[in-house]
Amino acid sequence: MRGLMMDVPLLVSAVLRHAAETHGETEIVSRTVEGPIHRTTYAALHERSQRLAKALLALGLGQGGRVGTLAWNGYRHLEIYYAAGGAGLVCHTINPRLFPEQIAGIIRHAEDEILCADLTFLPLLAGLAGKLGAVRAIVVMTDRAHMPPPPEGLPPLLCYEELLAAQPPGFDWPALDENTACGLCYTSGTTGMPKGVLYSHRSCVLHALGCCLPDVFELSARSVIMPAVPMFHVNAWGTPYSAPMVGAKLVLPGPKLDGASLRELILSEGVTFSAGVPTVWMGLLDWLDAQGEIAGEIAGAQGGLGALRLVGIGGSACPPVVIERLAARGVTVRHAWGMTETSPVALTSAPQAKHEGLPPRERLALSARQGRPLYGVEFRVLGADGQPVARDGVAFGRLLVRGPWVAAAYHGLEDSPAHATEPGWFDTGDVATVDADGYVCIVDRTKDVIKSGGEWISSIELENIAVSHPAVQEAAAVARPDPKWGERPLLVLVRRPGVAVTAEEIRAHFHGRVARWCIPEDIRFAEELPHTATGKLLKSRIRELYAEAMQAAGN
Ligand code: AMP
Repeated sequence: MRGLMMDVPLLVSAVLRHAAETHGETEIVSRTVEGPIHRTTYAALHERSQRLAKALLALGLGQGGRVGTLAWNGYRHLEIYYAAGGAGLVCHTINPRLFPEQIAGIIRHAEDEILCADLTFLPLLAGLAGKLGAVRAIVVMTDRAHMPPPPEGLPPLLCYEELLAAQPPGFDWPALDENTACGLCYTSGTTGMPKGVLYSHRSCVLHALGCCLPDVFELSARSVIMPAVPMFHVNAWGTPYSAPMVGAKLVLPGPKLDGASLRELILSEGVTFSAGVPTVWMGLLDWLDAQGEIAGEIAGAQGGLGALRLVGIGGSACPPVVIERLAARGVTVRHAWGMTETSPVALTSAPQAKHEGLPPRERLALSARQGRPLYGVEFRVLGADGQPVARDGVAFGRLLVRGPWVAAAYHGLEDSPAHATEPGWFDTGDVATVDADGYVCIVDRTKDVIKSGGEWISSIELENIAVSHPAVQEAAAVARPDPKWGERPLLVLVRRPGVAVTAEEIRAHFHGRVARWCIPEDIRFAEELPHTATGKLLKSRIRELYAEAMQAAGN
């Protein structure tokens, strides 16, 4: 027997319409690339997105046509999300931190027809002249006064504000099938060419609904959300959809993610929740420490971060020391795990009622885990024998996930399931443990784990311990071949500016924090460490940089 309820499709346009009708006066504040702070509302966002949808269709895009974006977090980028998706087109967000050749390759692979770019990215595009495949026009996300001269060899430049101004208000969002694609994002592709993850209206709406559950990020109409995760990678953790869904004020920090700029917005806009990768928060904390001054505020309950109460941290493992430093400033960390292929949010580290009275050390250990699945995501941790590992927080195995916002296949590779070592499951490539309460802890990427004498050493654990030393700013642990043990850790450290520390002192710091046989003998110091386009340590490059260690030890 079929249920007798309305079959209303889950569409992103309905999220925006809801925000406009129910939370129309709620603000969206953006730091623009042109300079000033810009203020708008959900009602105005809806009205402008409708006109932009008509402008995009007038440019000749057919259903499913791809609109590429090279843009920071700002209101115009948000308008493109909704205008393209809502009109039945696909908003393809491009990570400008990828190598230029990769960017051109992605644009061609996606068959983008129109590119929308912030002014900042015009020089990048100029360098890609002749390599942009099907791109017919570049919409510069600015007004006439800021339009640059057309660079040579590029498709014609159109002015975003002029396109909008040419359209009369109003547009009936089409009643699309909810499985229609609305967004496209390529993985970082640290090994090989990035792969395209094609989000649907249904997956985006369900993911956003999942993110609005209270134990995820505690979002509500009283929240002020500042995504410090970029809208050009994994939809800024769904905040462009979850914020309007709950009617939260949205603060978009544009290109400026440095400590001073973030703190300015946190205080001036009353930000209560933010999300970002660990390095963003380390940058903010270091900047606050360097100020020393705000002594009055630091001593008070506010810790120099105003109304900020919760930050979601993910993308890489959040070192416990970052959780402690934020706690000292009155901010709770909600560790989150996810991937481009999981929309991205899949696990978060909210405590349970029984954890409320835990002593601080145990609370810290809990929030250092990546956490439990939000409703909608299911997971398995499978050992080498293909069976689920014991839920003891010690046994580890491959992390598999499934759910309505997990990729089934990649764009252009529709016939082969995405990383499905087990039918119906997505193999994440991460190694994890799971404890009796179901909290998952990511041990490593499968390819980064250090296999020493038949045991596994977690590079993440070594890095977390290293950065808890006050002289260490950043740390990377990689496996180096060893004739006796198979592999041993090589630890590469960046010292804090002006601070001296020796390898011996670092080794002493490891004693008592990890089993003796895990302590790295080989510790090096570097000026900086290489990162991927999404801010993760680029371990393949680190292995190349220390090729001599890789070989010498192998002989
Ligand atoms: P991406 O698709 O580029 O966002 O990368 C996804 C990968 O980032 C995952 O497979 C993990 O290896 C890593 N990752 C994401 N969040 C976390 C986290 N909270 N802790 C540890 N690793 C993470």
